[in-house]
Amino acid sequence: MAAALWARRLGIEVLVVERQPKPGGQLLSYSMPIVDLPGFSPAPAHVLIERLTQELGRVGAAIEYGRQAMSWNGSELSLSDGSALEAGWLFYAPGLRTRRLHIPGEDQAFRGSVSELAGCAPKRRVLIIGGGDRSVEGAIRLARAGHAVTLAVRSPRLYARLPYQTELSDTSATVFYRTEAVRIEGKPGYLRVPFTGAGAPDAAWEGSDVLVRIGMEPDIVWQIARVRGDQAYGRHLRMTVIGDAAMDPWERSLVTAFASAMRAVKAYVNGMDS
Ligand SMILES: Cc1cc2nc3c(=O)[nH]c(=O)nc-3n(C[C@H](O)[C@H](O)[C@H](O)COP(=O)(O)OP(=O)(O)OC[C@H]3O[C@@H](n4cnc5c(N)ncnc54)[C@H](O)[C@@H]3O)c2cc1C
Repeated sequence: MAAALWARRLGIEVLVVERQPKPGGQLLSYSMPIVDLPGFSPAPAHVLIERLTQELGRVGAAIEYGRQAMSWNGSELSLSDGSALEAGWLFYAPGLRTRRLHIPGEDQAFRGSVSELAGCAPKRRVLIIGGGDRSVEGAIRLARAGHAVTLAVRSPRLYARLPYQTELSDTSATVFYRTEAVRIEGKPGYLRVPFTGAGAPDAAWEGSDVLVRIGMEPDIVWQIARVRGDQAYGRHLRMTVIGDAAMDPWERSLVTAFASAMRAVKAYVNGMDS
């Protein structure tokens, strides 16, 4: 969306395609207010989504939902519905997907969002694997919704931002440090996870749902981009990867996503990326 705004301001025709039925990307999963966007914060994420969407409308940038990009050959973007769009340049901002643990039974882990699980009745017993922002934020939301939450963290401490850690300590959630999941046994609803590690409890965890939140990786389609290290790069000419997918993990944020969009569009306009 930021790239589309810059493109319009610089006089370029632009179309945004989004595979989801609504805009927002990762902003849709925020439960805490945005506090680190200079001049905007603190405010709920939906306010930012609404402002960006309104601004796109104002500058005449079209956005089409439910359209998933599948491949790019340098001049044509193929979509999952079989259609294709011609374009002079592709700004590819696919965001991130959850990294996999690669343990037996991982397919039994919950694939949906924390919001879906939070609304479940009767109350669930949930194991969250991981100690970063997403796992701790999920733990806070689920514990506040009345579910019994356990966090299993491989490291001796949490890596989530401090305000999240403080909020977590005000909930009923339990944290096991230096604890690794060995496998996931059973079926959703009746799951068992044996642990290993210096801090692992003797008994395995038993409950209804397991959420794996061990970090994120670029959510690329391989026909469009590839990943080197933690960052995605375009496979073809006339495209730039922007946003979180183009960043190292410690750089990923709204500010850097906006900045990478501006940089990429200006480079395109100035012919520096041809
Ligand atoms: C819970 C949480 C809290 C956060 N808190 C903060 C914070 O407080 N401050 C901060 O600065 N940052 C925060 N972040 C990070 C911030 O949200 C991201 O840095 C930012 O959203 C990155 O934007 P993006 O456009 O690169 O990717 P995303 O927001 O992930 O958007 C990518 C979009 O591309 C779509 N897409 C992907 N592939 C395709 C395809 N093939 N075809 C069509 N559409 C596709 C996706 O559906 C998605 O809508 C947080 C993230 C999370 C998850």
